[in-house]
Amino acid sequence: MTAALETRIAAEIAARREALIALTQDLIRIPTLNPPGRNYRAICDYLAARLEAAGFTVELIRAEGALGDSDVHPRWNLVARTEGTRPGDCVHFNSHHDVVEVGHGWSRDPFGAEIEDGRIYGRGACDMKGGLAASVIAAEAFLAACPDFAGAIEISATADEESGGFGGVAYLAEQGRFDPERVQHVIIPEPLHKDRICLGHRGVWWAEIETKGRIAHGSMPFLGDCAVRHMGAVLAEMEATLFPLLATRRTDMPVVPEGAKQSTLNINAIHGGAAEPDDDYTGLPAPCVPDRCRITIDRRYLIEEDLSEVKREVTGMLERIKTARPSFDYEIRDLFDVRPTMTDRDAPIVRTTAAAIEKVLGREAAFVVSPGTYDQKHIDRIGRLKNCIAYGPGVLDLAHQPDEWVGIADMEDSARVMALVLAELLAA
Ligand SMILES: [Zn+2]
Repeated sequence: MTAALETRIAAEIAARREALIALTQDLIRIPTLNPPGRNYRAICDYLAARLEAAGFTVELIRAEGALGDSDVHPRWNLVARTEGTRPGDCVHFNSHHDVVEVGHGWSRDPFGAEIEDGRIYGRGACDMKGGLAASVIAAEAFLAACPDFAGAIEISATADEESGGFGGVAYLAEQGRFDPERVQHVIIPEPLHKDRICLGHRGVWWAEIETKGRIAHGSMPFLGDCAVRHMGAVLAEMEATLFPLLATRRTDMPVVPEGAKQSTLNINAIHGGAAEPDDDYTGLPAPCVPDRCRITIDRRYLIEEDLSEVKREVTGMLERIKTARPSFDYEIRDLFDVRPTMTDRDAPIVRTTAAAIEKVLGREAAFVVSPGTYDQKHIDRIGRLKNCIAYGPGVLDLAHQPDEWVGIADMEDSARVMALVLAELLAA
């Protein structure tokens, strides 16, 4: 990339400061709450008009039949593409357009997009409408600075990342939208902060464990078999053997925060015995020995671990309890799993983004891996595209919190980084 192009890009980004702010505010003011999935069409229509004016060809794609899609809450996605003057690589920016519920504790209008001290406030400001706006401005600035480029730029705004991405990126990946023949580089502008490149995420395995008992009168528990006590044995065994074992496993992946560098297991829920009564029920519960108890486990595993071994560890523990505990019986059901993924540090999108961060911020990029998953899982597994990172403005800790905000200067810097990545990959 020439120094002249670099200067032109910096000027084009600076000239778009007000446009970047206005775009971010407009996006925040469309409350795309998920669940249930509100205003997905509205935000896609808004972006379609914007990107068509910038010369993109836009498609609106409904993830018909996908998990979560219905006529009341259709799962709309937008894919916009603009072609260069000659063949070359395609750089794709993928943002999710959905936001999580507002929750309590706000001191501002969650959909007001108020500005104060260089910050824009609102649900989704950081996760991730600020990143989406930065990528749109980056593309517009690059197109103005370098109309004669090779390859193509794609921008997508997709549904349902917050609820698994099945009506969003997974659907598009199944349609071949992320095939390596079509798209060569992907940046997901999630709020990892403007100086960090997120290479991937740990793996996930969710399962439900049920212990079985026999119902009887609570005054004569010896005539029944208490499933809750059996589950107590499971929890005691986890404390004694499984948690200490997981704490010894460390990954070489640069996972943040530090505590997530080890294998972890959370018990997301526990339930045993009679169902909880409705709020308006004023009576007492009935005395019964619980005949079943269930927990949902959320195991996050490392790239060095093997999923079948992760599962065997838990079933092995349950089998040990079975041999030691008379009448112990259980069932285990898989709910969901995602393989860990980590893009190579030498991958073109990683090297190019790291170099651009150094140019814009004057410091080296940091490499991180996310403790939880995001849409990269679908691009990697269904799309078979490995040259993918998350990079965008915003402070990750603010995601899903009250008074969520994104810094205007951070958005400008990331937009410049993204535009320089386009220049490096497409202007040659
Ligand atoms: Zn997000």
